[in-house]
Amino acid sequence: MTLRIDNLNKTYKNGVKALDDFSLEIPTGMFGLLGPNGAGKSTLMRTIATLQEPDSGSIFLGNVNVLEEKKDLRQQLGYLPQEFGVYPGVSAFALLDHMAVLKGLSNKRQRRDQVNFLLQRVNLYGKRKKAVSSFSGGMKQRFGIAQALLGNPQLIIVDEPTAGLDPSERNRFYNLLSEIGEQVIVILSTHIVEDVRELCSNMAIMNEGKLIYQGQPSQSIESLSGKIWQKSVNKSQLAAHQKAYSVISSRLVAGKPIIHIYSEQDPGNGFETVTAGLQDVYFCKMKGLQNHPSQNLFVSA
Ligand code: ADP
Repeated sequence: MTLRIDNLNKTYKNGVKALDDFSLEIPTGMFGLLGPNGAGKSTLMRTIATLQEPDSGSIFLGNVNVLEEKKDLRQQLGYLPQEFGVYPGVSAFALLDHMAVLKGLSNKRQRRDQVNFLLQRVNLYGKRKKAVSSFSGGMKQRFGIAQALLGNPQLIIVDEPTAGLDPSERNRFYNLLSEIGEQVIVILSTHIVEDVRELCSNMAIMNEGKLIYQGQPSQSIESLSGKIWQKSVNKSQLAAHQKAYSVISSRLVAGKPIIHIYSEQDPGNGFETVTAGLQDVYFCKMKGLQNHPSQNLFVSA
């Protein structure tokens, strides 16, 4: 199964162009969609989930024409939005059962079996009688996954899933997602590079409504091998270094900036080579560095 997005455009009434001739093909497995806040990720996710209309373009899930056969798409879709809003004060079981009804699971016994199975799968069966509104952030996210899995969807969309989770909740959530992600298409939309590195076999980076990179995280990291250099500088030297080198990132360690630069040759001047990470890939692509056509399926004009 493949999700194919072609030439999607969306301009909001305030003039913001959130999707700009956006095309992308997403295969089965975990797919990471990275981009800064405001890149257009949620607009794209909501459009795929048939919650809003684009101005033009097409989306196909296998043979289903998503924008024209919305009902068919919705039957195959699981969606975990950024915000669920306020949960009503009913038990996890009752709420999931109600959501299953909305999803079209009309047989009461089958519904009960599936709800119980999913509560077990996300490790909330023991809490099934407790109100979801009383759950911790991590438990709410796992409940969100359970509702997204109702009806065995072929396409699962997860929007900014780990925001607000503590490290152990995040780990549990990762494990759960990667178990699900092998047979179906899971799109993980996030600005957290680490989430994509840990979970996804394929990824894309978008910015200002455009696709700027598509590839495999491991390959994209490999392609930077030997080209990322690091140096600890004084704050007063920072501006001069930014002028002289292709600085891709700067972070403070114990109050002192450590910069990463992109350079195909040894830049000398106290720089040392460093193993590239997905953060380096992300910042290189965002800054338009290392944009060899062979590594980009779609290069923005
Ligand atoms: P992301 O999910 O990557 O943060 P969004 O899709 O939420 O990006 O937003 C893309 C751009 O569209 C942003 O500039 C945002 O302010 C704007 N935007 C999003 N939703 C609306 C809306 N309903 N009306 C007007 N502008 C919007």
